[in-house]
Amino acid sequence: MKIICVGRNYADHAKELQNDVPTVPVIFMKPKTALLLPEKPLYYPEFTDDLQYECEVVVKICKNGKHIQEKFAHKYYDQVSLGIDFTARDMQRDQQKKGLPWEIAKAFDGSAAIGDFVPITVETQVSNLAFQLKLNGETVQDGHTRHMIFSVDRVIAYVSQFFTMHIGDLIYTGTPAGVGKVKPEDKLEGYLQGNKVLDVMIK
Ligand code: MG
Repeated sequence: MKIICVGRNYADHAKELQNDVPTVPVIFMKPKTALLLPEKPLYYPEFTDDLQYECEVVVKICKNGKHIQEKFAHKYYDQVSLGIDFTARDMQRDQQKKGLPWEIAKAFDGSAAIGDFVPITVETQVSNLAFQLKLNGETVQDGHTRHMIFSVDRVIAYVSQFFTMHIGDLIYTGTPAGVGKVKPEDKLEGYLQGNKVLDVMIK
């Protein structure tokens, strides 16, 4: 199983990090060991002083495929949840400055928190989902998937040119504005269409 992530998929977030709005999807991956399962805490890593949350809508692949056409991509995922793309922002900026890959800043153990999946239905079309992240009870991110630059279907069409999609693969679809730091004892809660699906404690 692999974890595919989209970077800079919301214009307001690209701007807050002073990045250009991309014209093709920005893709990176995390290994299976990055997965932080529901109810598990994240232990603050010793290698960063700037651990940040990025709350993202996540879809789960339900069918194997390669070179998937955008018009058929919706058949390849059937469940949705929220996740957190944890980022060591200080290390990411260092790596970017040097033009180096950013896995050590984004793909470390526990960096892909995942919530409980819900089936995709008429009410939970991935192109029409509101989601929020609360930090210690206060809303810090408030997004809507209609503001994605590249739709989930477009991302699957793009990514599957390079990587075969396998059942169980996860796609983290990018974060809206409002990313920020966490510290030990912080509590993060994610709401999808008003329902809590994600709960992560920082230790
Ligand atoms: Mg992200």
